[in-house]
Amino acid sequence: MSLEQVECIVAGAGVIGLAVARALALAGREVIILEAADRIGSGTSSRSSEVIHAGIYYPPDSLMARLCVEGKGLLYAYCQERGIPHRRCGKLIVATSGPELEQLPAIAAKAARNGVADLTQISAAEACSLEPALVATGALLSPSTGIVDSHAYMLSLLGDAENAGAVLVCNSPVERGRANRGGIVVDVGGTEPTSLGCRLFVNAAGLAAPRLARRIDGMPPALVPKEYFAKGDYFSLAGRAPFSRLIYPVPVKGGLGIHLTLDMAGQARFGPDIEWVDKLHYEVEPAKAPLFYAGVRRYFPDLKDGALLPAYSGIRPKIVPPEVASQDFVVQGPAAHGMPGLINLFGIESPGLTSSLALAKLVAES
Ligand SMILES: Cc1cc2nc3c(=O)[nH]c(=O)nc-3n(C[C@H](O)[C@H](O)[C@H](O)COP(=O)(O)OP(=O)(O)OC[C@H]3O[C@@H](n4cnc5c(N)ncnc54)[C@H](O)[C@@H]3O)c2cc1C
Repeated sequence: MSLEQVECIVAGAGVIGLAVARALALAGREVIILEAADRIGSGTSSRSSEVIHAGIYYPPDSLMARLCVEGKGLLYAYCQERGIPHRRCGKLIVATSGPELEQLPAIAAKAARNGVADLTQISAAEACSLEPALVATGALLSPSTGIVDSHAYMLSLLGDAENAGAVLVCNSPVERGRANRGGIVVDVGGTEPTSLGCRLFVNAAGLAAPRLARRIDGMPPALVPKEYFAKGDYFSLAGRAPFSRLIYPVPVKGGLGIHLTLDMAGQARFGPDIEWVDKLHYEVEPAKAPLFYAGVRRYFPDLKDGALLPAYSGIRPKIVPPEVASQDFVVQGPAAHGMPGLINLFGIESPGLTSSLALAKLVAES
């Protein structure tokens, strides 16, 4: 029996797989998107802060820095063109002590090295006139940070991909793969198991990407990173949001601190925190509330008792253990692993949503 062939297969219909499939389809290539779940965007992409990041904190010259800054511009232009709900609301990075105030120039300098030259340092009085509920010793204003309706964005990516001929097949987990005639063959599970051959296989399986890569015969095991899961919980704020911009404390070692983001409906939420877990689970622990109250009251002292409600959580697809301070996106092609027609995407944590169009461009052009 002859093996059914398609030019490109993308495993995973999160924001990254959808953006990659769109870019490939718009370049005139035949694409099938295989998604394990019964719908698009139900993994990490449905559990983010939906922030369009400016590109401030990432190590200079990292893929994260480069793709975030490029992706931010592409994403704003795309949302504008397609009428996808988004808002360039801006963000304040807030110092609440003398030592924190001293860190603001270094944050602005790092951002400038990444090509984010629009941060301005403002005084405590200026910060409080912008956001009267705030208590601060000074702040950085990032005007290019914003928010986006990530589900509307993913639907639009899928629409573009399908209009250019791509086909989405849900309930179709890619279970294994192997090299075959200069390309890859994958075994697909689900209700009608089958095998498919392709010239290009993009592993965009998010948290499951390392596990899937390990199941591709011929993929050197030493080049598949070990996965670690860093869970982030959110608490939402009951009632009207007292801020119109996103509010971030000065970053602490290992994280951005308990910050405030807004969704397109104006709902405020705090988080995510960081908790390293062995297994994937998404319950939000109400017992964490005191830590959230303490973190938030540093810059929003009027937060009332009982105002925080456990909301949702997401899990960062880490490929480094907790003691390693930062990781970069990994776009791993044949030059790295030696298997023609295979691209693995590992460690696509934040700012993956912001970077999605730039990352997709990189994959489609490689
Ligand atoms: C708490 C949190 C907050 C974040 N906030 C932001 C933010 O504000 N701004 C920002 O830019 N980024 C943010 N991010 C990062 C962003 O959400 C991710 O980078 C992005 O969603 C990753 O998308 P993905 O497509 O790689 O993964 P996913 O969305 O997880 O998609 C992977 C898909 O692959 C499917 N799959 C798995 N295994 C298989 C298989 N074997 N075969 C077929 N399909 C498979 C899954 O079902 C899933 O649908 C945040 C991340 C977290 C965890």
